Amino acid sequence: MKSLFNLFFKKSTCLHTHALINTNEGYCPDCGAFLKKYFYIVRCSRCDLKREAKIFFGDVLPEEKFCTNCGSKEFYVEKLDKISFIDIPYAIHTKEVVSPELLDFVSAQIWVDENKTKPVRYLTGNM
Ligand SMILES: [Zn+2]
Ligand SMILES: [Zn+2]
Repeated sequence: MKSLFNLFFKKSTCLHTHALINTNEGYCPDCGAFLKKYFYIVRCSRCDLKREAKIFFGDVLPEEKFCTNCGSKEFYVEKLDKISFIDIPYAIHTKEVVSPELLDFVSAQIWVDENKTKPVRYLTGNM
């Protein structure tokens, strides 16, 4: 996960602060990049409960160490390009630059990382 986030943050120095205010995708008024909003939801691996998420040094992690429902420490991160209204309090959103070359590179990174890290489910419309 860390490499994925570093990639996005290093690729451009623009934080896209003024982009995607009322929309889920569009161009950044500051740097012209095409952006898409993605949501990350942290769930318990054992009971599937949604857990409050935070970003810690570029990683999406659960706010609490243990699941309040089953006591498990294991979790996985779901990446979604749309979420329902009830999921908003749990979700972390990012604005990511979308370009065909970048998407190829990102999926390559995920394959490389898969052996070392926890399973991450990427559910985007583009991949
Ligand atoms: Zn920008
Ligand atoms: Zn649980």
